[in-house]
Amino acid sequence: MTDRISPKEALTLFQSADLLGLGMWADLIKKAMHPDEVCTFIIDRNINYTNVCINKCTFCAFWRKEDDRDAYLLDRETIFRKIEETIALGGTQILIQGGLHPALDISYYVDLLSSIKERFAINIHGFSPPEICYIADSSDLTVRETLSILKAAGLDSIPGGGAEILSDRVREILSPRKIASSRWLDVMEAAHGMGMRTTATMMFGSIETPSDIIAHLDAIRQLQDRTGGFTAFIPWSFQPGNTELGRRNNASSTCKGTKKAQQQIRSQKTSYGATAVDYLRVLALSRIYLDNVENIQASWVTQGLKLAQVALRFGANDFGSTMIEENVVASAGVSYAVSLPDIIDAIRSAGFVPAQRDTYYNLLKSF
Ligand code: SF4
Repeated sequence: MTDRISPKEALTLFQSADLLGLGMWADLIKKAMHPDEVCTFIIDRNINYTNVCINKCTFCAFWRKEDDRDAYLLDRETIFRKIEETIALGGTQILIQGGLHPALDISYYVDLLSSIKERFAINIHGFSPPEICYIADSSDLTVRETLSILKAAGLDSIPGGGAEILSDRVREILSPRKIASSRWLDVMEAAHGMGMRTTATMMFGSIETPSDIIAHLDAIRQLQDRTGGFTAFIPWSFQPGNTELGRRNNASSTCKGTKKAQQQIRSQKTSYGATAVDYLRVLALSRIYLDNVENIQASWVTQGLKLAQVALRFGANDFGSTMIEENVVASAGVSYAVSLPDIIDAIRSAGFVPAQRDTYYNLLKSF
């Protein structure tokens, strides 16, 4: 591809193009890639099997210590019941992910996957790269060995969580215990090499710079050039509620991150949270830059249905999941009560044909 936009051009565009011009360009690209005016969504459920996590990321409101009163690890029956409910509602996928629980090793994950597959015909989209690496490290396996074992047990595809911003400078402040950018990319490359499809995400609106956003998009584009394994890109904005990072200007807050992270957070005086305009600019730039990723998701979970409708004219062609259940963003105090009819109405009133899809973007049903 010789006419694709360069990182330098993308930075200039991101910093100086007017919002509507950027949106119109992204919309033109989207129309060329998806000329049928369909907006897809998937019926699925997030099952967060545990909130216990040793990483303690400063932007995360979900994690708990093992001995916290509200720490949990879901039992098998609860997980099975959630899957039954999902299938009864027409769901085709479960997104299963959780914290890095120190008491779990690969046998827990193998048992979980195989017990689900024995009972249900459903796609298991599960375990983001930080979980895969944690399972590998705690079981003394390589990432490839771990993926191969999990795949054999029933893991179908992998969510792009844990990418945040693929800059180790940013990660050192936001989530110093989390895997480095290169490891996130390595897990995805290994999964693609085994024929597993994955998504890619980006969390912006915290401490990153415009250059960090471009570097993140470029890392995704380069990997996709090599593997073609990403089904979609999902940018979403940092939700500061109930997080250490969100409390950074409050000197009396009780910091929960590492000492170094606490010092770095307190030494900065910026307030966080992307605006609607920030979101639309990042979304449009993503559509323009990622010319090799077919689908861009609007994030109604973080932006609300109304902005998600606008997003469909700024490069997005997919509404993501119906989210029968969502816990992570809700922990940050952001919760939109949205039903399947609400999603269908929102897509239709934005001028598009709503259509249910599967994990791999095959159309299942139009509304
Ligand atoms: S973002 Fe994930 S890895 Fe980080 S603390 Fe939350 S659950 Fe743990």
